[in-house]
Amino acid sequence: MTAATEPQTSYVFQGTVDKPGLQVVGGKSVYIDVEKDGVVHKNVIDAMTGAAVGALGSADEDVFKIINEAARESTYSFCPLISNKSSEALSKFYIENSPEGAFSSALWLTSGSESNENALRIVRQYYLERGLPEKVKLISRESSYHGFTLGAQSISWNPRIEPFTPYLMDRKSVCLKMPPAYTYRFKEKAETEEQYTERLLGALEQQIIENGAGTIAAIIVETLPGSTLGTTPPPKGYLKGIRALCNEYDIIFYLDEVMCGTGRCNPNGKLNCWENYLDASEAPDIQTIGKTIGSGYVTLAGVLIGPKIRNAFVNGSNSVFGGNTYSGHAFNCAVALGIQKKILKENLTANIFKMGNLLGAKLKERLLSADNIAGDVRGVGGFWSIEFVKDRATKQIFDADLNVGPRFKQLCLENGVNVMGMPAFADGSCGDHALVAPAFIVTEDHIEEIYEKIVKSVDDLTSILK
Ligand code: PLP
Repeated sequence: MTAATEPQTSYVFQGTVDKPGLQVVGGKSVYIDVEKDGVVHKNVIDAMTGAAVGALGSADEDVFKIINEAARESTYSFCPLISNKSSEALSKFYIENSPEGAFSSALWLTSGSESNENALRIVRQYYLERGLPEKVKLISRESSYHGFTLGAQSISWNPRIEPFTPYLMDRKSVCLKMPPAYTYRFKEKAETEEQYTERLLGALEQQIIENGAGTIAAIIVETLPGSTLGTTPPPKGYLKGIRALCNEYDIIFYLDEVMCGTGRCNPNGKLNCWENYLDASEAPDIQTIGKTIGSGYVTLAGVLIGPKIRNAFVNGSNSVFGGNTYSGHAFNCAVALGIQKKILKENLTANIFKMGNLLGAKLKERLLSADNIAGDVRGVGGFWSIEFVKDRATKQIFDADLNVGPRFKQLCLENGVNVMGMPAFADGSCGDHALVAPAFIVTEDHIEEIYEKIVKSVDDLTSILK
């Protein structure tokens, strides 16, 4: 640790307003330097890569070359009217590296929230193209997060969104909520995982029937929820069951993989998280992505579109309503394509799947077998979380004023590892938890270092709280 020389005033209107809470002041590979309250923590191992963004870590020399080349070779175009070769090439790459027949087009935007906004616009136009204007309702899950723009907030259900309710889409007749699939808290003790799935799907089907299937446009689910429920994997058969209901009732199956997708959790060395749970023939009709597509070097996110949606447009107006100045941004798409090609060439998706599962298994074994505040360790591939509880047997959540999630992050930082610490929801629907999403380039030595430092931080917090 070294003392900072800069005065502690924040000029950025985000997070803590008067002074910077935490500030990244440098980084190389999987290590970052983080400043807090005038103290610089050097060489903190980054187990979270921002918000599960940095697949290649910081200051990658190959990416600098990719950026240089992209700057020379990309020519900006206003994509809604004139496409460009980089956005075409990136779309083709994503389609070709997804299971055959899953996707047939892509739209590139600049953030996950914006991708969800645009996906909603596409949902609406899809039914208009088919002459079904009454199909408008969107079912998404309680305790979900799809972004902080107003459309994305409208389909998100969690206490952080509530202050903005007056500005959101009608949350009684347009945006509907269904329960989360949160096995750790909501599966009954007497239920098997399959029975829990059956209960959730039964309730969903009932909801569709009660509303009238002819009014339901889309069912929207994060394949692996990130910032709200902490990487809780779908129970067995859950996503397959939603796919089947969507087929039966002519509803768009829409997955949000902004945080868990694009190589972070793919079991086949490719891109999509849903490949853990679904066959190619069960692919989503619409999927949003973001974060690791640009690995933090460019701001890029996107909407992937399945053949069913594309065909309805082609057979209808053959034109997409609306557009954004920076959609299909040539430079951003060229950089993202270079990054994705490097990731695939170096088998980094396979690497993070293996290394992440190794970290998860080690954390699970050590934390759940000792007396501490870890109640659950869950995740898949490169995306894991630890949920903290006051009492393991009752799963009781800590009092909100103890600020357990954020406090854990601070302890981790002092111990030299960066994680994301999320507070519990005041209504008790989700406990304090920490998220872990390392860069795809991590080695076994890095995993060991992350493991040791996280375990020490859990032990430290346990001694403070117990
Ligand atoms: N969807 C999910 C599942 C997310 O986790 C996030 C961000 O964390 C978003 C959408 C919003 O993405 P962005 O912050 O890039 O707007």
